[in-house]
Amino acid sequence: MKEKLLDLLACPSCGGDILLAYASKYENREIIEAVLSCRKCDREYKVVRGVPRFADLSRIEQEKAETAENFGWQWTHFTQENEQYAEQFLGWLQPVKPEFFADKIILEGGCGKGRHTRLAAEWGAKEVVGIDLSAAVETAFEATRNLPNVHIVQADIYKLPFKKSFDYAFSVGVLHHTPNPKKAFVSLASKVKKGGAISAWVYGSENNEWITNYVSPMREKFTSRLSQPALYQLSKLPTLGVFLATKLLYKPLNKGAKPIAEKLFYNDYLYYISRFGWREQHNIVFDHLVAPTAFYISKDDFADWWREINAQGTEIIWHNQNSWCGFGKI
Ligand SMILES: [Zn+2]
Repeated sequence: MKEKLLDLLACPSCGGDILLAYASKYENREIIEAVLSCRKCDREYKVVRGVPRFADLSRIEQEKAETAENFGWQWTHFTQENEQYAEQFLGWLQPVKPEFFADKIILEGGCGKGRHTRLAAEWGAKEVVGIDLSAAVETAFEATRNLPNVHIVQADIYKLPFKKSFDYAFSVGVLHHTPNPKKAFVSLASKVKKGGAISAWVYGSENNEWITNYVSPMREKFTSRLSQPALYQLSKLPTLGVFLATKLLYKPLNKGAKPIAEKLFYNDYLYYISRFGWREQHNIVFDHLVAPTAFYISKDDFADWWREINAQGTEIIWHNQNSWCGFGKI
């Protein structure tokens, strides 16, 4: 934890300022082990292995803890090196471009292992704070600690430990895995200053009926309950089907016979992922099978989120005909 993070923090319980009570271990200028305290209510929060811990995991509801744990396992075990990642990230953030990040104070709701956090920092954010509920914060911290403008915090998106001090907040692929996606979105937006902006990317309900009808029941009753290493192995089987179909069918037909390709099942999305290698496709399949909670959100419901926060100039863009990108000003 970098000491300048204190300026952005607020007690998740009472909103009071957070002070550094004492630090027992530093590495370079990074606070590794310390105790933070609230000026107002005296509650204490620990910094452990460089990460301030505001989420009391022992008291987090079962469902949230399971989602965090399942994704956390993946994020601490997969190493995803993908040069197309920036492009994918920008696809989810439409219509935002990298220049938008310059000199802004930014909050990421659900940072996983910190891939987007890192990109935001590299695109010139003044400060970027990535929060996550899961153990993935350990990986995110290690992956970003060399960047002077990145901060990783373990926190619950419903009880964010921050002042209303951000120029921009974003959350990609996370809100739909929380028990109440709209509430999580409103909570994230509440930390953005007047004149700031927010982006969110969520699974759409449109065109995903085959997932909600057939995949989701299997995920809820079976795959999300398997041990992660077992599911990791088992999910190679459906990945093989997706991999072969995208590489041998969707990619060549989209390049050589577009009118035929357009008639294929789920073409926009499967063509889109045909550019990814085995590891990335395996991640995608695993994602769809691992989460105990996943909501598929209609455009109408998504539009309602933006009305709820009184966003101005809201843009909602359909991504690959199966998910929604939203952007609006606060
Ligand atoms: Zn307090």
